[in-house]
Amino acid sequence: MHYCERCADPTVMAPEGDEAVCPVCGERRPARRLPAFVVTGASAAGKTTVLPHLVAELPECVVFDVDWLIGPFRRACSFGEVDWPAFRDAWLAVAHGAAQGGRSAVLLGPFVPAQLADLPALRWQSAVHFAVLDCADEVRRARLEARPAWRERDVDSHLAFAAHLRSTLSPVLRTDGPTPEATARSLAAWVRGLL
Ligand SMILES: [Zn+2]
Repeated sequence: MHYCERCADPTVMAPEGDEAVCPVCGERRPARRLPAFVVTGASAAGKTTVLPHLVAELPECVVFDVDWLIGPFRRACSFGEVDWPAFRDAWLAVAHGAAQGGRSAVLLGPFVPAQLADLPALRWQSAVHFAVLDCADEVRRARLEARPAWRERDVDSHLAFAAHLRSTLSPVLRTDGPTPEATARSLAAWVRGLL
């Protein structure tokens, strides 16, 4: 994402501290790196509900719902098939952009660490921290069934993904007990503890 402006050929720069360095000519430019945060969760975990409250709780960060880029990616990708690795890489690039202004990005989206491991923009974050939003299976089932018909609702696969997330990542924050405001406060405390 950082290309050298001095080299004649397109040359990808490498991170070194808070700078980007050209491996060919040694050119340097500022490239601040900050931790990025992913608030993951299977469908109906409560990500969209908690979003406005998390925005209010974390003015020092930039909080995004990753779904906002699905529409543009559908238009950009051939046959309307989203290239999901490119989609995730785009969000890491956005997070790096936010870091230039001194703000960490908080991404609400169903990502897992393995999906980010090989992405070019990963090394432009100083770290990526994950938290999981979760609820009981019967609550998730009821939330999914209450959605409009146009929303995808493969309940069994969402339940399996939720089980995978809660067994592999931490912290896990419940959304079927606390209010969305309380969940947002817990998430904000988690972010601040890592900044
Ligand atoms: Zn160069």
